[in-house]
Amino acid sequence: MSDTSEHIIVVGAGAAGLIAARELARAGKRVTILEARERCGGRIHPLLAAEFGYPADGGAEFVHGEAPVTRALLSEARLSLQEIEGTQWSFDGASFSRESRHDPHEAELHAVLGELKDDLTVTDFLRRHFAGPEYGRLRTSIERMVEGYDAADPARASILALREEWMDGGRHTQARIVGGYGALIDFLAAECRRHGAAISFGCVVSAIDEKDGAVVVRCVGGDVHGCNRVIVTVPLPLLRDIALPAAARAKAAVACDIGFGSVIKILLRFARPWWREVKLDLADMTFLLSDQTIPVWWTRYPEPHPVLTGWFGGPRTAELQSLDPQGLIDAGLDSLAAIFALPREEIARDLVAAAATNWAHDPFARGAYSWAMPATREAQAILARADGPVLFSGEALYRGRDMGTVEAALASGLETAGMILRK
Ligand SMILES: Cc1cc2nc3c(=O)[nH]c(=O)nc-3n(C[C@H](O)[C@H](O)[C@H](O)COP(=O)(O)OP(=O)(O)OC[C@H]3O[C@@H](n4cnc5c(N)ncnc54)[C@H](O)[C@@H]3O)c2cc1C
Repeated sequence: MSDTSEHIIVVGAGAAGLIAARELARAGKRVTILEARERCGGRIHPLLAAEFGYPADGGAEFVHGEAPVTRALLSEARLSLQEIEGTQWSFDGASFSRESRHDPHEAELHAVLGELKDDLTVTDFLRRHFAGPEYGRLRTSIERMVEGYDAADPARASILALREEWMDGGRHTQARIVGGYGALIDFLAAECRRHGAAISFGCVVSAIDEKDGAVVVRCVGGDVHGCNRVIVTVPLPLLRDIALPAAARAKAAVACDIGFGSVIKILLRFARPWWREVKLDLADMTFLLSDQTIPVWWTRYPEPHPVLTGWFGGPRTAELQSLDPQGLIDAGLDSLAAIFALPREEIARDLVAAAATNWAHDPFARGAYSWAMPATREAQAILARADGPVLFSGEALYRGRDMGTVEAALASGLETAGMILRK
């Protein structure tokens, strides 16, 4: 039965906000989404297919692991997944080698992790259990993974949270959505509208007031919206910018116990896949790891698009904070030139299109995604509680295994909507 007597405002039209809005609108609630940008998707950022030759993703790109909520939504939207195939390579500054995913000490690592009772940081864990010189490669690969993949600081990241991610090998299965993540967002936005939810763009929420059960949401520029409840899905660093009622403010204070990392992502489309010509056995290359300024690169393999995507994650991205998008593109070309021992001009000559984002510079993200510190699980539990008219949701609140993902955002949005609907 329709219950339009309750008006719910959702702040943010990213994955979490859209799925929460869809669930609530579908259940008959009156729902308004206020979004600061002029588009839906947030950290899912589709780029123009005309520029890259396919619907490229400037933000989220992969579906990691089982991702049950994402997969269910994809099947509802009749979208399909393409599993990542091919070979992972690494370049050590002198030569290329096929990257082995298994370290000789992996079984030992899993045994020690399995017996861990108390949480500690990754750095302390390695110092305590794997300090010897024989573990040098293991330490480097763990630190590289924590920084590059989780965008986290090993000196502060929780080993117990990472244990969940590592132990079952889930992170090894990766896939892409045919049509890109933008297709999933288009589906969700259409679903929201079909069920009567309104989506307003260009609304930067600056304050939420509450008095006698009535809630007022204020936007920069003066717009004011009354409602009964608000779901705030903005990325963690943006929470500080929204004035909140006292109880919600006290809750939001725990967000400082959740890590939030940054990522630089660079897409370079070339006229031809020159790297395959330079080195014939790179024909099925997917990922390429290096120690260059932009250390990680991947191809679209098995698709033929001659696009290389550069990736740099974690605290050391701050070293490149002065670079604008063109500066990042140049840094990417320099890294490729060094890896492939080619003059940079030769590579640049083949460049057809490029896009680069330091997500720390994005005004409505201020970083890429969250990661867990030892105090994070408790902070998430506090933030996710539905104990007043202001609720929080979004990837950072997800207490499952793959934090910082679209799956995390969708699962959190569903959880929040479910709590409202069950009350
Ligand atoms: C470069 C990059 C690569 C990534 N790669 C992957 C990947 O491969 N796979 C994966 O699963 N995940 C990936 N992620 C993470 C994933 O994109 C996020 O976890 C997920 O999209 C977050 O969704 P969300 O709804 O919680 O937040 P968001 O998508 O950030 O949505 C929040 C919304 O709130 C809006 N907003 C902010 N402030 C205000 C305000 N004051 N008023 C109104 N609106 C506001 C924002 O504009 C945004 O639209 C990546 C992220 C980045 C940045």
